[in-house]
Amino acid sequence: QTENTDKKAIDIRMKVIKHKLLVLSGKGGVGKSSVASLLTYSLAARNKKVALLDVDICGPSIPKLMGIEGLPVVNSEAGWTPLKPRSPGHQNIAVMSVGALLANSDNSIVWRGPRKTNIINRFLKDTFWGRQDFLVVDTPPGTSDEHLSVVEALSGSCKPDGAIIVTTPQDLSVDTVKREINFCLKMGIKILGIVENLSGYACPCCEEITEIFKSEGGIKLANQYNIPFLGKIPIDTNLGYCAENGKCLVCDFPNSSSTKSILDITDKL
Ligand code: ADP
Repeated sequence: QTENTDKKAIDIRMKVIKHKLLVLSGKGGVGKSSVASLLTYSLAARNKKVALLDVDICGPSIPKLMGIEGLPVVNSEAGWTPLKPRSPGHQNIAVMSVGALLANSDNSIVWRGPRKTNIINRFLKDTFWGRQDFLVVDTPPGTSDEHLSVVEALSGSCKPDGAIIVTTPQDLSVDTVKREINFCLKMGIKILGIVENLSGYACPCCEEITEIFKSEGGIKLANQYNIPFLGKIPIDTNLGYCAENGKCLVCDFPNSSSTKSILDITDKL
């Protein structure tokens, strides 16, 4: 009964969000959350209204990346009010993360499956998302309870448009990416494409890209599974600076090569 009521409430919230994208990666540290936040900023730069939901319950990094750390989540009659990034000019962005509900960002959560499902459902149904062009969902690395919960919550009429898989050139020999691909195939989630992050090094002076690993693995993997290759994002010191300080790379470093990459990737979606 409760599950049915939850699902109906989720469907009502999701009905007014045109597109839903999942961001996945086989393992941690490949830049999945960075790509999710960059995608949010670049969609907003393309005049889209974007919501970003962080379901990485045990290791949320979106609050820091989006500069919402320490901002209080207000509960109004319409539901939890999503947070706006602190840096100015982001009225088109709405963010929600379990990290925003923790009193201290150093606190961590160790929850079992059902509690995770419960908070994910609450995020989807109790947040006052309003009308949005996109909902970007940042998931934990691998395929876990959180992925199943999101896919179940977003089934039927509010099915995601698809998933973006983030990887690195070195990650490609590992089976982890293939596991993500298989998860999507099994769950009937379309794979929108692969993004290869930390792909080469962007010189801070001239933006020239130095290839560090010449594997072309992202393209090879995309070809092998017949899925689109969306593009490469280089190691960019500006991106590291923005991530540490909750700033927007797309706005503050419009000419950096990683900004160009993410805008190019966004335009392919
Ligand atoms: P994941 O979500 O896969 O665990 P994160 O997005 O949290 O990874 O990124 C891990 C670290 O790598 C962060 O400190 C982030 O700032 C940094 N990082 C990610 N992508 C890049 C990049 N292209 N250039 C520079 N630093 C990056």
